[in-house]
Amino acid sequence: MAKNGVMAGDPLQPSLLGEALAAGDRPGLEGLQGSCQTCRRCDLAAGRQQVVISRGDPSARLMVIGEGPGAQEDASGRPFVGRAGQLLDQMLASVGLDSEHDAYVCNVVKCRPPDNRKPTAQEMAACAPWLALQIAEVDPAVVLLTGATALEGVLGIKGGISKLRGQWHPWQGRWVMPVFHPSYLLRNPSREQGSPKWLTWQDLKEVQRRLEQDQPPSPTL
Ligand code: SF4
Repeated sequence: MAKNGVMAGDPLQPSLLGEALAAGDRPGLEGLQGSCQTCRRCDLAAGRQQVVISRGDPSARLMVIGEGPGAQEDASGRPFVGRAGQLLDQMLASVGLDSEHDAYVCNVVKCRPPDNRKPTAQEMAACAPWLALQIAEVDPAVVLLTGATALEGVLGIKGGISKLRGQWHPWQGRWVMPVFHPSYLLRNPSREQGSPKWLTWQDLKEVQRRLEQDQPPSPTL
């Protein structure tokens, strides 16, 4: 078990909200900013320039969750601003979604892992209360998980992004869809039918349709 009581690989639970929050106080997104900036719950704190919390609209019905900050994100303090982020913005725009106004964008871990390595299960578990707070405050109808690390950090599912992408998961009263990470799409730029980029475009069209339908999953799911 991780030192904060979260099992690596567990799905993200609402109960995590109390983990890092003094006396059960829920600080809201503004309080989250201050709490994260002084956070030293894991070793990633040592190498960060900035804590990277979010961009976009906290009242959006779509939340996009990625892995963790890269060099440009670490320098700017904003998630998904490098080449992968620009591709994400373009792909969302292609289905009529503006990443600044129609989405709230964040990551599983808020500090940059060295050399852009994948965050460890312990680091994801340490940062999970902050992500749980973001989800609780934003209360999105639809969550887009970009890449295998987000899939593991939120739903506790390891691997399988190629098989699981494009599938809806009812989760805590919301719809969740895993998709390929945009950095993978940068390495696989083909737009041919059946290519990762083409598949992601189909997935995002499905996300847009789901947002339009505006129907939460049945409580029995
Ligand atoms: S990655 Fe998360 S848990 Fe680790 S120091 Fe940064 S904010 Fe804290």
